[in-house]
Amino acid sequence: MSTFARELVCRVCGATQPLGPTYVCEECFGPLEVRYDYEAISSQLRREEIAKGPLSLWRYRDLLPLVREDSQPVDIGTGMTPLIRADRLATRLGLRHLYIKNDAVNPSYSFKDRAVSVATTAAHDMGFDTLACASTGNLANSVAAHAARAGMRAVVFIPANLEANKIVASGVYGPTIVAVDGTYDDVNRLATLVAEEYGWAFVNVNLRPFYAEGAKTLAYEVAEALGWQAPDHIIAPMASGALLCKIAKGFRELAKVGLMESKRVRISGAQARGCSPIVTALEQGTDQIVPQTPNTIAKSLAIGTPADGPFAIHEIRSSNGHGVAVSDQEIVEGVKLLAETEGIFTETAGGVTVAALKRLAESGAIPPDEVVVVYITGNGLKTPDALDGHLNNLVTVGPSLLELERALGTRHYDAEPVTV
Ligand SMILES: *Cc1c(COP(=O)(O)O)cnc(C)c1O
Ligand SMILES: [Zn+2]
Repeated sequence: MSTFARELVCRVCGATQPLGPTYVCEECFGPLEVRYDYEAISSQLRREEIAKGPLSLWRYRDLLPLVREDSQPVDIGTGMTPLIRADRLATRLGLRHLYIKNDAVNPSYSFKDRAVSVATTAAHDMGFDTLACASTGNLANSVAAHAARAGMRAVVFIPANLEANKIVASGVYGPTIVAVDGTYDDVNRLATLVAEEYGWAFVNVNLRPFYAEGAKTLAYEVAEALGWQAPDHIIAPMASGALLCKIAKGFRELAKVGLMESKRVRISGAQARGCSPIVTALEQGTDQIVPQTPNTIAKSLAIGTPADGPFAIHEIRSSNGHGVAVSDQEIVEGVKLLAETEGIFTETAGGVTVAALKRLAESGAIPPDEVVVVYITGNGLKTPDALDGHLNNLVTVGPSLLELERALGTRHYDAEPVTV
């Protein structure tokens, strides 16, 4: 066993710091990320080794930020989620090569398990006893689950207006849940203060450089499933923008360490119009993110001041991708479209992504021969309320064939004799 993570490096000025629970550059206050020894990885990592690894994201352990040689990953069974060919959805949209990466089936039912598995492993190795986060919902679920698995205490901070199902899906693991009267951005500001005061491992604050790396495995798994090839175009939802940036980074890294041919992947990002600071900046042709106060049913994406916004803008622009913002109505239609064509029930964030796909397909922005991968990141059973009043396929009858046939309109003959 070895680890190839070497240090933290500033994403703005390049200054370095040792690996540790820190996230801002001492020189310029820019965000930090993990730097690896890619040469050592290239010389040691082979496709066959990965293929022999566990059926979880930890098969890519050499490309993840472990801080100890003998690190034991905190793993609840995350990753290696299905990449399915979505032919029925493709046909509906006039596309030919469409795949869905269904990350809604992770253990806590969102892609956040990837980031949290990596961050919890780092936090555990650094000796923390309390795991914490500022969350729009899914992250709290995942942090609570991983803390339970690692035998750590969990304190999760959420906006008080969160969906009831998401609160239950944290509460069951036994964390302390702090519901803050405010938006996610208020929650996050409070969490930053608490992280400084209390010495807790906030996965998306002081452990953010580790946390964010987990999402790279969404690129690795797709490439491996496609026979070590990148798709032409990916579409991902954006809240802070970290997920999208790390998918892009993941494909680049695979080329860098020689696991696949270098390829330019088009990166497109989706937001709800009711919280679309990144897409708005793209539309206006600027790098300047103007904070927004969220007003959308896509609560898991409702971050008004996205930390990775400028980096996401750069990934989208430099790859010739698109930023798409969709209405709440389109989100609900997106959820239903994916369910009805492919049998996958996603939460509102997935509705955002499918709606963005639909817009891009219908506007001709996706050439029909492009191989497209759409990332579905959360499970529909977490946000069933979003469909209230939008499904009308319930037929209620008494236990009688007659009533059933009347209700279904399938009654072919009448019991009464026909009089001529
Ligand atoms: C958190 C989340 C995202 C986006 O995450 P960022 O990295 O903050 O952009 C996407 N989908 C779901 C379901 C999420 O919970
Ligand atoms: Zn810096």
